[in-house]
Amino acid sequence: MPNDIQRIAIIGGGPSGLIAAQFLSALKRYDIHLYEQKPSVGRKFLIAGRGGLNLTHSEDSFQFRKRYGWAEAFLTPHLSRFTPTDLRTWADDLGIETFVGSSGRVFPKEMKSTALMRAWTKKLTNDGVTFHLRHSFQGFNDQMQPILENKDGQRHSVQADAILFALGGSSYPHLGATGHWTAGFQDKDISLSPFRPMNCGFDISWSDHMSRFEGEPLKNIGLTLNEETARGDAVLTQYGLEGGAVYALSRSLVVAIDTMGHAIPSLDLRPDLTLEEIANRLSVARGKQSLSSFLRKRLKFSNLETALLNELGGRPLPLDPGSLATLIKALPVKVNTPRPISQAISTSGGIQMDEFDDQLMIKRYPGLFAAGEMIDWDAPTGGYLLQACFSTGIAAARGIENWLRSLT
Ligand SMILES: Cc1cc2nc3c(=O)[nH]c(=O)nc-3n(C[C@H](O)[C@H](O)[C@H](O)COP(=O)(O)OP(=O)(O)OC[C@H]3O[C@@H](n4cnc5c(N)ncnc54)[C@H](O)[C@@H]3O)c2cc1C
Repeated sequence: MPNDIQRIAIIGGGPSGLIAAQFLSALKRYDIHLYEQKPSVGRKFLIAGRGGLNLTHSEDSFQFRKRYGWAEAFLTPHLSRFTPTDLRTWADDLGIETFVGSSGRVFPKEMKSTALMRAWTKKLTNDGVTFHLRHSFQGFNDQMQPILENKDGQRHSVQADAILFALGGSSYPHLGATGHWTAGFQDKDISLSPFRPMNCGFDISWSDHMSRFEGEPLKNIGLTLNEETARGDAVLTQYGLEGGAVYALSRSLVVAIDTMGHAIPSLDLRPDLTLEEIANRLSVARGKQSLSSFLRKRLKFSNLETALLNELGGRPLPLDPGSLATLIKALPVKVNTPRPISQAISTSGGIQMDEFDDQLMIKRYPGLFAAGEMIDWDAPTGGYLLQACFSTGIAAARGIENWLRSLT
């Protein structure tokens, strides 16, 4: 490699680091080194494949970017320069066909990430990216060079003309995203927000007899907190509730718990029916029927739904149709704590947005960039997490290209 070739270090081999490596290696102009603390790259991406690998979402761009809530303004320029369509084209170029599922979510046809990851790492190797596995970032030296430790415990500093950090958040730490990188960044006065679990389950103090419903689904429910409603499914667990509808409301639930010590969202067991429609269906004589068979006949209630009504509706349950309908539309669920961060699908927290310029360079340390989940944004499941990781990875790679051009 000639001496005048500029050198780029990418630290962290998840989707955001890998896509940046791909963008930069395609330019055929740089000496690119990717450092990863695990024995292989993309472990979380591979696990995401077990759930089908929801790469992105097909909804229109206005609706799409709204999903990023408080981070929308920060992410929009990056999402519009590497869009869901670009992501599908990228997969296609690696020989992986995608399709749009009935919910609008985008998946690889084979619903797995293994073939995609294999094709991707092969391409990066062919394009000249040098992988340094089992190399873990430990912080910075006085010259602001990253210190890496190899598997034998030997440390060395990395000299590069541009450095991208793509170290992830701190959920599923056994897959690599331990969040230990924060100490090194704090030492250099880079502002960080604490990690919080997102897209996670929550603890609820069920009474003992709910245990027989463990693992049973609640299909098509609504969950509302402070006028924000999430629709979808949930699963009753020994400790509380998990599942899409709960994940979608997780940010608001976590914020409420942080400030008040608990949250009380309301659970709508029949979101497709109005209060009046439910009251009407219940306005027939119940006769000798038990409540559960009455609700099963009138509203197709499962045993779990009747148990939840009994558990959360207060004793005794009201008899009149209007009051019972009101409860069915808005059962108060006291949520105590989020599940541990290690079990969350994603995390908020990490480097605060105002540390960055519009190229994702850390303003106070020119030449240092970051991408992916280590930046403080969050998003619901539905492909929005990976899309933002890919889009910020590309944005930082473009930023690196501009930065390196400015040096020559
Ligand atoms: C079970 C599960 C399923 C998911 N399914 C989906 C889905 O279907 N769709 C979706 O959009 N999102 C999904 N996600 C979320 C998505 O996988 C993440 O948002 C995404 O992987 C984050 O990418 P990243 O590159 O920022 O970080 P990561 O993928 O976490 O990669 C960070 C990399 O940095 C390395 N690293 C960390 N610290 C160091 C260090 N000190 N030194 C060197 N290397 C280090 C790690 O080992 C890791 O390889 C899922 C997550 C989980 C846990």
